[in-house]
Amino acid sequence: MIGRLRAAHGYDLGHTLTLPAVIDSQAVIASSQFAGAGNNSGGEIALSRIGFPLQEDASLAERGRPDLQSVDFDRAPFIVIWELTRACALACVHCRAEAIPHRDPRELTTTEGVGLIEAVSRFGRPAPLLVFTGGDPLRRPDVFDLVAAGTARGLRVALTPSGTAAARREKIFRLKASGLARLAVSLDGSTVAIHDAFRGVRGSYDWTMRILNYAREAELPVQINTTVTRYNREDLPALAERLRGMGIVLWSIFFLVPTGRGRKEDGVSAGEYEEILNDLVDLSRSVPYGIKTTEAPQYRRVVLERGRGIRRDGRAADGGWETGDGAEQPRQVGFQTDAIGRAPKGVNDGNGFVFVDHLGNIAPSGFLPIKAGNVRTDDLVEVYRQHPIFRELRDAERLRGKCGRCEYRTLCGGSRARAYAMTGDYLGEEPCCVYEPNVEFRIRQGGKFE
Ligand code: SF4
Repeated sequence: MIGRLRAAHGYDLGHTLTLPAVIDSQAVIASSQFAGAGNNSGGEIALSRIGFPLQEDASLAERGRPDLQSVDFDRAPFIVIWELTRACALACVHCRAEAIPHRDPRELTTTEGVGLIEAVSRFGRPAPLLVFTGGDPLRRPDVFDLVAAGTARGLRVALTPSGTAAARREKIFRLKASGLARLAVSLDGSTVAIHDAFRGVRGSYDWTMRILNYAREAELPVQINTTVTRYNREDLPALAERLRGMGIVLWSIFFLVPTGRGRKEDGVSAGEYEEILNDLVDLSRSVPYGIKTTEAPQYRRVVLERGRGIRRDGRAADGGWETGDGAEQPRQVGFQTDAIGRAPKGVNDGNGFVFVDHLGNIAPSGFLPIKAGNVRTDDLVEVYRQHPIFRELRDAERLRGKCGRCEYRTLCGGSRARAYAMTGDYLGEEPCCVYEPNVEFRIRQGGKFE
């Protein structure tokens, strides 16, 4: 399908987004909070209206899956990311963490890490998803004990190993035995040349393929992470096709935020975002894996508008599945095929999401590295619930610029990390969205304009 779209529109599939059940988020899972769209009332738009399943399936419920729909992001995040270390053998061109060759002696210790895990469990039920990232988390020899510690406390733990020789077969099997729920592996191109150039080390592609094979052997569910930049944008359709045969549960597409080693000029334009997001909607109708975006919450708007027969990427819209004009609605194929599942609401930086770096610093996300505390001295639960930065990020009425006057601000809200990276204001408008808010609608509501 993507190839056909390229031929017809001279465009290619950009990246990012999570579809179905809905929509963008940080990292591993997706989300969707549809409040306000179309009526600005703050009420939620039922996902079922746009064809997304809301209910956990019975078989998973029997296996003890949490009731994700009861998540209140003011009380608990959907996902907690812990950067175990910044040590990594790769030299990725876009690396958020600005990874280094060796471990920092100031990293959280094993005991401190277990304390962090216990803090995560204090958020209560449903428990947040806990993701171990890096750098390369496999550079820490205690990673298996930490996975087991999380699992023992009832957490779903996922891990993002780097595509290096450190990810040996026995380690993947040991992760599985420790209770790991999902492996998230980065693949940024359909070919050796594209991926290795992106990752900065020859051989990374081959190591990534080995990790995928080991995970398949170990029966560990796999998510593929892809960061979209101008260097791999043209390759996205080919990559999407390659993924069809890999047996993955989710394709998580990250839209570049110019932080760390990522540079503004490496990203794609707002118009390209719109094209990519529309292509992901189409792709989601046919691929055997879920699709989710990170740092592109405008995907939620695109999904909603496509259901109404609207598209803003210059290509002809179909009838829309909401209008009954024959358009096929997105299918959430592959939804909940492992213990991870998807967020039931729209996750955004600090809103359903919290990040702890290798030194224990607490931030709204790894792409929005504003320190709000440190787990060595502060309570993670309190910081997430009460810190002014987090509270502001969860209040769509505080958004500025066109995001602040947008009827999709609760549903979408724009990437807070990109707004901060490109304007210095984490409540400012998303720089990579083509949408111009509905002025007439806001006037009717008595809204104010900046
Ligand atoms: S203007 Fe902002 S809130 Fe509205 S759709 Fe675009 S990014 Fe989302």
